[in-house]
Amino acid sequence: MAVYDYLIVGAGLYGAVTAQQLCEAGKKCLIIDRRSHIAGNLYTEQVEGIQVHRYGAHIFHTDDPAIWAYVNRFARFNHYVNSPIANYKGRLYNLPFNMNTFYAMWGCTTPEQAKAKIEEQRRSRYTDTPKNLEEQAINLVGADIYEMLIRGYTEKQWGRPCSELPSFIIQRLPVRFTYDNNYFNSSYQGVPVDGYTKMVENMLDGVDVRLGVDYLKNRDALGTAAKRVVYTGPIDAYFDYCYGPLQYRSLRFETEVLDCPNYQGNAVVNYTDRETPYTRIIEHKHFVFGTQPKTVISKEYSTEWNKGAEPYYPINDGRNNRLYARYKALAMQDERIIFGGRLGAYKYYDMDVAISKALEALQKIG
Ligand code: UDP
Repeated sequence: MAVYDYLIVGAGLYGAVTAQQLCEAGKKCLIIDRRSHIAGNLYTEQVEGIQVHRYGAHIFHTDDPAIWAYVNRFARFNHYVNSPIANYKGRLYNLPFNMNTFYAMWGCTTPEQAKAKIEEQRRSRYTDTPKNLEEQAINLVGADIYEMLIRGYTEKQWGRPCSELPSFIIQRLPVRFTYDNNYFNSSYQGVPVDGYTKMVENMLDGVDVRLGVDYLKNRDALGTAAKRVVYTGPIDAYFDYCYGPLQYRSLRFETEVLDCPNYQGNAVVNYTDRETPYTRIIEHKHFVFGTQPKTVISKEYSTEWNKGAEPYYPINDGRNNRLYARYKALAMQDERIIFGGRLGAYKYYDMDVAISKALEALQKIG
C-alpha cells in the first residue's frame, strides 16, 4: 500500500519546489536523495562563519516577480549583484562585455568607438547564420574578445572546441554599450544571507526527508511507497543507459581556508586563458559581504563526466539532444513518473527556470 501521494527523487531545487507545493496542497510527500544532504548542487555549508557554495557559485536572478516573491518566502536575500572579473594572463577585464571591457581592451571611451572597433574586428570573420559558439561569439564581440575572454574559458569549461559547441551558451552573456558590470539583465538578483541549504530546509518544512537513499538501487522497494514519482536524477541513468549514456560536464573544487580577510576582492574571478587549469576562483564571503578575519576560496576545475561522478551541466549539442529525445519518448510512456530538473530534463536551466518548470509541471498534474 502506498503511504505517500508523491515520492520525489532528488532534494535539489526542482525536487524541493515540487515537494513544497504538493505539501502545501495537502499531499503527503517523501523526498529522498542519494547524497547525505538536501539542496542538491545549491548546497551551502558554513566554514569559518562563511557560507561555502560546495558545488559552485549560485547567484539567484530572475525577471519574474512571482518567482522572486516565491523564493523570498523561504530566505532573506541580499542585494548582491554578480560582477565577475576576467583575468587573462594577469590583465583584468570586467564582465559581461561592456564599456569597461572595451576600454580595458582597446581604450575606447565612447559607445560609438567601441561599436566601430567591434565592427572592424568582425568584418573579416562575420558569418550570416552562426552555426556554433565560435561564430556566434565573433559576430557578437569580435576576434580580440573571443580569443582573450571567451575561447580559453569556454574550451576549459566544456572540454570541446568552440566550433563544436552550440551558440546558445554564449547568448547567456549580455553585451552592453554602457558602463554596467552587472552579469545578468534580470530585474531581481541576490544571494540568501543564511545560505541556500537553509532556504531549501524551509521549503521542505512538513515534507518527509530521507537522505543517503539511492532510488535507482532501491527502485522496487521504493516503488510501492507512493502513488506517483517525480524523478530529478539523470534521465539516462533511470533507463539504465539503454540507448547509451548522455554526456555531462562535471566539476571539481579545490577549497582552501586562507588566513587573510580578503584574497581577491571579488566573489568571482574567471581565468580565461587556456593554460591556467581551473576556470575560476570563487571567494565565498563576498557573496554576502562577509567581514570575517579569514576567507574561503574554491578553485573550480571542469572535467568530463564519468559514471560515479556528479553530473553538473548537460551538453546540449545535436548528438546529445537527439539521444535525450529518445529517452524522453520512453519517459512519456509512464504516466506515473514525472521527469524534471537539469538532469531529468537534460537542460542547462538557471535556478529561476528550474523553479518555473517545477511549477508548470505541477499545474499539469493538477
Ligand atoms: N563565458 C566566457 N568567458 C567568461 C565567462 C563565460 O566565454 O569569462 C562563456 C562561456 O562560453 C561559458 C558561458 O559563457 O560556457 C556561460 O558561463 P557562466 O560562467 O555564466 O556559466 P555558469 O557556469 O555560471 O552557468
